[in-house]
Amino acid sequence: MKRREFVRTLGRAGGIAGLGGAAGLLEATAADRPRPAAAPGSGYGPIIDDDFRLVVLHTNDTHSRMDPFPMDGGRFAGLGGAARRATLIRRVREANEHVLLLDSGDIFQGTPYFNFFGGEIEFRAMTAMGYDVATLGNHDFDNGVDGLVATLPEAGFEFVSANYDVGGSALAGHVEPWTVREFDGVRVGIFGLGIAFEKLVLASLHEGVRYTDPITAARAACRELRAGGCSLVICLSHLGYEYRSSDRPSDLTLAEAVPEIDLILGGHTHTFLDEAVVFGQGRTGFTVVNQVGWGGMRLGRVDVTFDGARQASGWAAAGYDIDDRLDV
Ligand SMILES: [Zn+2]
Repeated sequence: MKRREFVRTLGRAGGIAGLGGAAGLLEATAADRPRPAAAPGSGYGPIIDDDFRLVVLHTNDTHSRMDPFPMDGGRFAGLGGAARRATLIRRVREANEHVLLLDSGDIFQGTPYFNFFGGEIEFRAMTAMGYDVATLGNHDFDNGVDGLVATLPEAGFEFVSANYDVGGSALAGHVEPWTVREFDGVRVGIFGLGIAFEKLVLASLHEGVRYTDPITAARAACRELRAGGCSLVICLSHLGYEYRSSDRPSDLTLAEAVPEIDLILGGHTHTFLDEAVVFGQGRTGFTVVNQVGWGGMRLGRVDVTFDGARQASGWAAAGYDIDDRLDV
């Protein structure tokens, strides 16, 4: 595998404390634009080995970008494309037994596909790619609760949000706080967190959906999921990676406040992290935070290994750039 084929971070649960202190922030490299495009090449197989390995693939803020960005000389020209993403996901599935495919919200809005078809095309494509679970971003309310509900029959995957109380809306029964997937005896809990509606979503568009404190909701979700025997807890967050004000909930403040989360797969701030960020904490010894920009230009990947007792033993993160080298 060529070095540039992966944006890669490696860590072992047992070795994290030695790298940067048990509670320390080990790595934080944020960039506001994608790295120079690198071909995924032939390396789709294991990036870390143990008794049992789960591959978690993730996207965020795909924003109705079904086609690659136009060749208009812009900074993203020619990048992305849902068909290429599907090819990439298929290759990873072919090379790995246990794969989970997740999205952190803002599937809607950004191209005429959404304006004309209201999100049906995006959901159908994600269903064809085999998405398992997604959370809701603010733009997923752009056609209101009713517009979202109307397109849900096209979504062959689950939606989770632990801090949006949907009980008083048409989303009741369509969005759960969390879900659990089981892979050969390894239980994986997945919950979602949404951003505050204020200044982002008109009251009329989120009618009946109530925002509640994400940290409180995250703690409750972790408690329930651990009690239910989950050895890995994943948060799909649309809170945003980081803000100037530390009072504003973000993926980083969440990681500090709720060490029981093992993976925080983020969205909203369109942050291209060149490397996943890890906090050495919690029962697994890690909270890995990642986000893959926007527009479907990158696919994130975190592999988690489990020992013979089905406890998480290590992790590795990677990112695949999505460009014309995936055209087939
Ligand atoms: Zn957003």
